[in-house]
Amino acid sequence: MSLDALSRRAVREFQSAFQSTPELLVHAPGRLELLGNHTDYNQGLVLATTLDLAVNVAVARRPDATHRLHSSAFPRADIHQRGERGRQLPRGHWARYALALLGELEREALSPGGWDISVCSDLPPGAGLSSSAALLVAIAIAVGGLPHRTAAQRLRIARLCQAAEHRVGVPCGLLDYLAILHGKAGHALKLDLRTNRVRPIRWPRSLALVLIDSGVRHQLTGGGYARIERACATAARSLGVASLREVTRATLNRFLSTPGRRLRPGELDAINHVLTENERVRLAVRALQRGEQEGLGALLSESHRSSRDRLSNSTPELDDWVSRCASTPGWLGGRLTGGGFGGMTVHLVRAARQRAFLRQLSPGTSALAARLGGGLRVIPVNRRTPHSG
Ligand code: ADP
Ligand code: MG
Repeated sequence: MSLDALSRRAVREFQSAFQSTPELLVHAPGRLELLGNHTDYNQGLVLATTLDLAVNVAVARRPDATHRLHSSAFPRADIHQRGERGRQLPRGHWARYALALLGELEREALSPGGWDISVCSDLPPGAGLSSSAALLVAIAIAVGGLPHRTAAQRLRIARLCQAAEHRVGVPCGLLDYLAILHGKAGHALKLDLRTNRVRPIRWPRSLALVLIDSGVRHQLTGGGYARIERACATAARSLGVASLREVTRATLNRFLSTPGRRLRPGELDAINHVLTENERVRLAVRALQRGEQEGLGALLSESHRSSRDRLSNSTPELDDWVSRCASTPGWLGGRLTGGGFGGMTVHLVRAARQRAFLRQLSPGTSALAARLGGGLRVIPVNRRTPHSG
């Protein structure tokens, strides 16, 4: 759905939920991890992109301190809540995200009073495309009126959203918010999670992406993700470094050849994965800049093998999609994307072959011809208060 159609829908839905017109609409794209699996919390590198799927949030200030929340993705679950004294919502309820963020904004004196907030999205929730982060970023900008032009302003918003997501029980890093806040049309993004620096990398028109949903849903709170995080943390401790980002092949070899130094099972795999995955991100940026399409595809497939063999976060369904697509003309490489244990595979294909690639997938396959999206958009509808951006 184009931005215009989605924003028109967002205004209509706001009007029917609250019988009034929104002041402002914020369009926040979803993000896709192209490379950099489980590198973010190791202060590593990630190649990501925003998508043309987005969460739209329409808002209007209220004359009292009540928040009214509506989302068409979760009908019959509208919330009316006065300040922070409202009833406790059940775990997993979508409005907990919104209220956690409103709480963070209130703590920073950024959003006095109450708000009507309506959420309208074509980004599938829970599919690893960061609908939760898009939702939070959109509300932070729409309600908080926060400027988001400079890297420092974007980092501030990312930290507010992270604090809110931690509050609802998801111990996430800054990656998703930073990618969404730095999204740029026609560009992928190289993110460095040690410095929180983000660099746009031009994406050639000759390259397209296809996402295939395995249909298997992961739980961020499940044990697999935590097991990998723990292996990375204990490996860093064993090596005496602050994070696995500090590890080079030379320091690893020195450690391994020192008598008496040992690593627990799983630690060496975690180290080798993060080390090589950071290298793959660097090589991918170079491949994009030089137009080396086969090289880029091979890096995606190598990343999949590293996740599968070293982190054990693949599933038979994800492996199956990567190996089945490998024999399709136009396919350059593919991998699991996101935390793993289900979710999606992303495939790099020649743009000229994208339609043919999609046609040969078996009927009923949940596939998406993903387009690189643009950045955030702030769209005044019926402006009463100035918002900068
Ligand atoms: P992901 O971020 O990969 O999509 P998460 O499990 O982190 O998956 O976040 C999904 C949650 O974000 C949903 O369960 C819901 O609480 C919230 N969310 C996403 N999209 C919407 C929406 N359109 N309306 C309301 N809440 C949403
Ligand atoms: Mg999320």
